[in-house]
Amino acid sequence: MKKAELVFIPAPALGHLVPTVEFAKCLIQRDDRFSVTILVMESPLGGSAIPAFTKSIAESNTPIRFIHLPLVDFSPSQEVHKSVEKFITESIDSHKACVKEAIVKNVLSSSVSGSLAGLVIDMFCSSMVDVGNELGVPSYLFYTSSAAFLGLMLYLPIRHAQVGRGFEEFDGDLVIPCYVNPISSSGLPTVLLNKYGGYSSFLYHGRRFKETKGLIVNTFEELESHAVKCLKNDFDNVPPVYTVGPLIDLEGESDKLDSDEIMKWLDNKPDSSVVFLCFGSMGSFGEEQVKEIASGLEQSGIRFLWSLRKPPPKDKIAEPNEYTSGAQEVLPKGFLENTKEIGLVCGWAPQKQVLAHKSVGGFVSHCGWNSILESLWFGVPIVTWPMYAEQQLNAFQMVKDLGLAVEVRSDFRNTSGEVVLRDEIARAIKSVMDGENEVRRRVKERSEQSRLAVTEGGSSFAAFGRLIDEILRNKP
Ligand code: UDP
Repeated sequence: MKKAELVFIPAPALGHLVPTVEFAKCLIQRDDRFSVTILVMESPLGGSAIPAFTKSIAESNTPIRFIHLPLVDFSPSQEVHKSVEKFITESIDSHKACVKEAIVKNVLSSSVSGSLAGLVIDMFCSSMVDVGNELGVPSYLFYTSSAAFLGLMLYLPIRHAQVGRGFEEFDGDLVIPCYVNPISSSGLPTVLLNKYGGYSSFLYHGRRFKETKGLIVNTFEELESHAVKCLKNDFDNVPPVYTVGPLIDLEGESDKLDSDEIMKWLDNKPDSSVVFLCFGSMGSFGEEQVKEIASGLEQSGIRFLWSLRKPPPKDKIAEPNEYTSGAQEVLPKGFLENTKEIGLVCGWAPQKQVLAHKSVGGFVSHCGWNSILESLWFGVPIVTWPMYAEQQLNAFQMVKDLGLAVEVRSDFRNTSGEVVLRDEIARAIKSVMDGENEVRRRVKERSEQSRLAVTEGGSSFAAFGRLIDEILRNKP
């Protein structure tokens, strides 16, 4: 009998593609009635991380078929700088015809392929529901951020119908379903305050999520019990929610890293004595901020491993680069020499390996959702330093709603020009590394829960089972 084939359409960003592939791997490992094809778009922002990642998965003999779509030449309605989210949404939209063609050619007209059971689409790919409709198959959302942020996106159309406008920075405290505490409008992510299409593209996606047959979220119920309950009970006509996480790619590490020096350095440090600083695939700082971080680290006296990368040129939205000179050009004079006994500065870091290391006791993070799930999995408490995307809300949720992180800032934006000062940095690092800090105990508890959730009998394992039944039931 032909397998039930799911076609995945992730957004062209590593933080979305990696958990999507992990979800696909879990699905085919769990149930051999499924086969998976992943359509890979080229990022309109450039970068080599995606091809390197898909190549490494393909070489590992994972039975997932990747189809690389050609870059579609689209005419953006405005410059990328005005709203990167709108730019990406438009770029993805322009792939609809070629997504359909790829599915018709490689799945529907192929004798070796399974029979098409549906599409699994990313949060930025909500317009692909149209392709599913044209092909007569259901679409499922695979959501790579938190259940709370999904709730916020679903709330946008409801709120918009009530107030008829987007958010203003000075709206004051906002009660937003799925978050426990009111959120100050000034702490909203930039995208929601953006008047050049950022807000409206999220409003659009939030509307379209309701047209799917299921909302699959990379989280676990015990972590976000309030948000999950709210998603299930407080919205009308919302598709069923499946919390299947944490889905973490524990085996793979990106090709580009040379982890030996880092791991060796960590090996001979005392347990839980090192703070790790790492700011995601797009995080970097200007020289002034780098100097404050360096001074904050020296001032704290805590051992550190710092992933420090060079910002792209000012007029470009792109991944940071590696410093060729070991970052000497931006660090304060004498810093590397003064701290050589206690610190190591590196470029791209093998984050999961580092977090898994027994010497690492704290994590200064930009609060990307994958990084949060990884930190919880390995039981390493976070100091929140959000930078872009929805990270300000992730930081808020971790500090205020869940009591699972220490704040250096929860409303920092990489575009704001503000600088976090050395004293604040030193204070937050010392606080998170303090063995008596209650946050450390809570994070350990969540770590155990996260592992239990995905094992047989756990909440995510059970939700995964319900999802499988539902996909097979909905199969045309
Ligand atoms: N990552 C890494 N090394 C780095 C920076 C990031 O391995 O130096 C990985 C990290 O482990 C995580 C992903 O890249 O899996 C980043 O995803 P996240 O959602 O945290 O942030 P994003 O990069 O999407 O903003």
